[in-house]
Amino acid sequence: MRSNFRDKLSTLFGITARPFEDKAEDRWCCFSIADGKIAPPYSCEINAVDHCNIACRDCNHASPGVAKAISNPAIVLSDLLLLSKNYKSYVLKIVGGEPLLHPDLLALLHAVKKSNICEYIALVTNGTLLQQMPDEIWAELDELELSIYPENRTKLERNLTDIQQKAARHGVRLVLSPYRDFRITFSTIGTADTALTRLIFRNCKLANLWGCQSIHNGYFFKCPKCIYIPQILDDPHKYDYRLDGLKISDSPEFLSELMTYLSTQEPLKACRYCLGSSGKLRPHKLVKASEWKYTHARPIEELVDYKKLSRK
Ligand code: SF4
Ligand code: SF4
Repeated sequence: MRSNFRDKLSTLFGITARPFEDKAEDRWCCFSIADGKIAPPYSCEINAVDHCNIACRDCNHASPGVAKAISNPAIVLSDLLLLSKNYKSYVLKIVGGEPLLHPDLLALLHAVKKSNICEYIALVTNGTLLQQMPDEIWAELDELELSIYPENRTKLERNLTDIQQKAARHGVRLVLSPYRDFRITFSTIGTADTALTRLIFRNCKLANLWGCQSIHNGYFFKCPKCIYIPQILDDPHKYDYRLDGLKISDSPEFLSELMTYLSTQEPLKACRYCLGSSGKLRPHKLVKASEWKYTHARPIEELVDYKKLSRK
């Protein structure tokens, strides 16, 4: 799938595709420049809603621990239009939370299309509400990525033929993404060890290699996790999540500000409470949403997979 994206990027932007996973240590990079615009390696994301209808213990958007929030299609359109002057992603992923909880997903899809920020729209869903997804939504998608966990597998398998038929009828590429294990994502206690925070950030593939860039309420973020981390912290550790992002603007300096933001090797405020891509691996598990936050109340030092703190 990734080489597909690279081929498409090459065709679309004239970028010489490089093997992102195999880069030497000092060559990790989370963007390219083409036609005067910044492009992420594969995709960028918007969050249709922040909340979810299930509670995965290691959800990397912290959906079970954050307040219900629904993105406003008009704000999404204005953010994407502004950003698209300096940024273009071949793929835009609509994620959440669970995006099918958005009450007007069609308006959101129309906003994304109208912005012209991408060529290809992918919706990422846990599939629990897929049977109710109207044809109008199917018709707007290029790809549907189905997250399959041990707990929803049986139900999805029961409906899979129907889902495959709908996808085929609407020309939607269906991607089945089974997850058995997740890496631990957050620590609500964090760490006071700034050297450890730097190491976690430096080896964070989301921010520095995969380019999991997210557009949220007028701001651009180098990873989705930093949007949600302040919400799961106890007072007095809470802070304004926007401090970790870059305000989207039409300033003539915005392109260079965005390049600087994406290139800096200074950890974000959120990194102190995050495992990046270096959390210990453990089996996927559903928990009670009310207990989700407390499952993360352990110091970072106990949760790190120290073998992952190296780019080699
Ligand atoms: S399905 Fe699980 S991982 Fe996906 S948003 Fe919901 S809680 Fe998070
Ligand atoms: S908060 Fe920091 S460590 Fe966590 S994903 Fe974002 S950049 Fe990586």
